[in-house]
Amino acid sequence: MYKNKIIIIGGGYAGLRTVEKLAKNPQNEIILLDKNPYHFMQTEVYDLIANEEDFAQVTVDLFTYCTGFDGNVVFYKQDVTNIDFENKRVITSINRFSYDYIVVAVGSRTKFMSNVTGLREYAYGIKALHRAMYFKQKFEMSLFKRVDESGTSCHALNIIIAGGGLSGVEIAAQMASFSREFYSHNNFICRKLNIVIVNSGEHILRGIDKKLVFASDKRLKELEVIIKNKRKVVEVTKNSVKLSDGEVMPMDFMIFAGGIEPNHLIHELDIDKNERGYIVSNKYLQTQNYKDAFAIGDCTTIYNHNNEVVPPTADTAEQMAEICAKNISNLIKNRPLINHKIESRGVLIALGRGYAVSKIFGIHFNGYLAYVMKKFVEKVYAKRLNIRSHKGCKKIFND
Ligand SMILES: Cc1cc2nc3c(=O)[nH]c(=O)nc-3n(C[C@H](O)[C@H](O)[C@H](O)COP(=O)(O)OP(=O)(O)OC[C@H]3O[C@@H](n4cnc5c(N)ncnc54)[C@H](O)[C@@H]3O)c2cc1C
Repeated sequence: MYKNKIIIIGGGYAGLRTVEKLAKNPQNEIILLDKNPYHFMQTEVYDLIANEEDFAQVTVDLFTYCTGFDGNVVFYKQDVTNIDFENKRVITSINRFSYDYIVVAVGSRTKFMSNVTGLREYAYGIKALHRAMYFKQKFEMSLFKRVDESGTSCHALNIIIAGGGLSGVEIAAQMASFSREFYSHNNFICRKLNIVIVNSGEHILRGIDKKLVFASDKRLKELEVIIKNKRKVVEVTKNSVKLSDGEVMPMDFMIFAGGIEPNHLIHELDIDKNERGYIVSNKYLQTQNYKDAFAIGDCTTIYNHNNEVVPPTADTAEQMAEICAKNISNLIKNRPLINHKIESRGVLIALGRGYAVSKIFGIHFNGYLAYVMKKFVEKVYAKRLNIRSHKGCKKIFND
């Protein structure tokens, strides 16, 4: 019996939801390719950095996850270097795979601006797990160093976060909240910590509901995070950051959360892209050029019914995955395709331990309730993947 060969590139939020949906049809033979052997839950990075979670809690093993299905999903850890759309072949650093349908879901990466001297050299991105881990360790060691020096000297610890978007704001708040508790629990005398957000816009969280911006700004100030709006980082050295207004600030370490761009594979593809380099997809989420090729998640840009860009989030990526899986099934069955009507369903912003701000289906909640809701959403997501991965693990060890 003929099997539908489907390749999904990228085991992120978009890729895994597509696998889940398409694996329900035993006629589908699915190959998942990712350059990493794990799924990285980026939405929980703020907890990883502030030591609330370890790396095992923000990752899911893709081998065991795929083995957890009913034998029709296989995972290969391979870096995809190109796609020959004409001949329906995926080219990786070590292999070639043929397909009937392909889903490109490779996400985005930190965009280190080349015109900012020293940025790539001295700032940390947080989109890749190894970089987030490195930063987490540096943060903890710096706190320890201050404690160790206590009694002889008390230098301030200066942390700069470039970018006042969702990730920059969540990380700043979580670090401020964590260090505050850390210092007060242990009664350390030396507790000078400066966390500064440098943001190019008029205010933080551009494009997000005004009430959420106001509540987040207030909370960050309560946590003593300094916000420098309408300024850009223009130069970074080993221990300082220069801003566009000429101010030079001391820096112990810096996170760059000021921009993203599509992952490197997208640059290589001979396919229609927009002016920012993202894949152009149609209302069915197919690429413009090839009807058997779909692009979903952060590597593409979609628009809502008002022709506004739908923000690239994990929620958007998962909604796209569901439409994409339905449309691949419809193509297989020769049925008409469905249009996407994707809208942002809500925003949940964690702002330190026990506090979040949110707008879900138009309703605002702030404080502990919003925090519990955020944790609930994250836990349900992780649980679903972990159940599948445990099933796969059992299969491997019982075979
Ligand atoms: C710090 C931070 C906080 C965030 N907080 C939130 C939040 O609270 N809520 C929310 O909804 N969103 C949040 N986001 C955004 C969210 O994480 C992204 O929108 C989401 O990860 C996009 O999913 P994706 O599947 O498109 O890409 P990703 O999840 O990035 O997955 C892409 C996958 O493709 C793989 N890949 C890349 N290139 C290749 C290649 N050449 N070959 C093989 N594999 C490849 C990668 O290894 C990765 O596994 C946050 C992001 C960050 C960084």
